Amino acid sequence: MGGKTLFSKIIDREIPADIVYEDDECLAFRDINPQAPTHVLLIPKKPIAMVSEATVADTALLGMLLLKAGDVARQLGCEEAFRLVVNNGAGAGQTVFHLHIHILAGRPLGWPPG
Ligand code: AMP
Repeated sequence: MGGKTLFSKIIDREIPADIVYEDDECLAFRDINPQAPTHVLLIPKKPIAMVSEATVADTALLGMLLLKAGDVARQLGCEEAFRLVVNNGAGAGQTVFHLHIHILAGRPLGWPPG
């Protein structure tokens, strides 16, 4: 079929990454092209392409990812102010089709977002 995503290759250590957190269900690593002093990607190990392709069977997984995002932010010392971004679809800027949460922090984060 479509083959492994780039992020599945990072999970399987076929591509190197600066990993900051890992457990049985998810992995967090620093973005290769950071948009803020702290820019980490949190991904489920299950290769869901995007939020709109998740199903009710993924309810617990999706909830867990939000909790883990808070844990990772705490671990990185940016729990006071951080932004979570999930791009869904190419039109929204998604370039890697393996669901991921951007964790951004360390600079003023304007609103509305671009
Ligand atoms: P998105 O545009 O929402 O799909 O986000 C994909 C993100 O993956 C971008 O911010 C990229 O900079 C990042 N990225 C692409 N390749 C790598 C890689 N090998 N290691 C870490 N981050 C990557």
